[in-house]
Amino acid sequence: KFNTQLGQHILKNPLVAQGIVDKANIRPSDTVLEVGPGTGNLTMRILQKARKVIASEMDPRMAAELTKRVQGKPEQKKLDIILGDFIKQDLPYFDICISNTPYQISSPLVFKLLNQPKPPRVAILMFQREFALRLLARPGDSLYCRLSVNVQMWANVTHIMKVGRNNFRPPPQVESSVVRIEVKNPRPNIDFNEWDGLLRICFVRKNRTISAGFKNKSVIEILEKNYKTYLATIAAENNQMFVEEPDNNMTDLIKEKVSLVLEQTGFSDKRAGKLDQVDFLKLLYAFHKVGIHFA
Ligand code: SAM
Repeated sequence: KFNTQLGQHILKNPLVAQGIVDKANIRPSDTVLEVGPGTGNLTMRILQKARKVIASEMDPRMAAELTKRVQGKPEQKKLDIILGDFIKQDLPYFDICISNTPYQISSPLVFKLLNQPKPPRVAILMFQREFALRLLARPGDSLYCRLSVNVQMWANVTHIMKVGRNNFRPPPQVESSVVRIEVKNPRPNIDFNEWDGLLRICFVRKNRTISAGFKNKSVIEILEKNYKTYLATIAAENNQMFVEEPDNNMTDLIKEKVSLVLEQTGFSDKRAGKLDQVDFLKLLYAFHKVGIHFA
């Protein structure tokens, strides 16, 4: 009956369901977005507290079941079901996001929340345990990765509770955890793609040195291309023509700049898995100072 391709694992433990909804501290004026309402175990509880619920559901059978569940009840008027893939949907503003997340969309869901023009006050989300631990991981932890550094730049993440696999029907392969994500507001004044671009290079192999990551030929090519764009922009701002230098010179120039920055900041022989947010920020600023960009 359940489509596990769509991550359909229904939360059958009412205490856990109520726990998740309680953790959101819903106010009577709130609009709540629920991703993947399924048969509505969380939805019915959210409806009791919120002004409005927007429920994004991919599976029409599930949407039909949920519709039936509120039919003729006062809750019916408060519920909007948006049918389709959450990742592709344009969303109105919502105060809170709650989801027993279909695990295939864990990462895109987090980034979609982080990139909302006006981020929600809080998100309470159930993930596979390992994904949750990646969101929370600190420098030196074995699960510390690009996702950890990236998400922690834009949001504060805390662990709320562990949920064993037998609380679901059918039980998933792995354990789960509920986390709270509070998107920082105002946003840190950093370009999303620049930050992510730097992290991508550093975390290709988190246990290799930072300088090793920058030795990669395609990395240098990208930095070179970005550098040309940067020079052209500056030239245009000054109403000048940008005259391209022969490519070899440019490649050497980029390599020189990169090794200079890595030496001067002292990160050349460090490993990404041990660096924290402040370290990566220092690195990004130092690169920007010499005109090196990542996006
Ligand atoms: N909220 C219910 C519960 O806790 O019992 C069901 C949670 S179940 C883990 C995930 C739900 O997300 C399923 O109903 C599935 O059909 C739906 N879903 C899967 N992929 C989706 C997507 N891309 N967009 C919206 N909903 C999706």
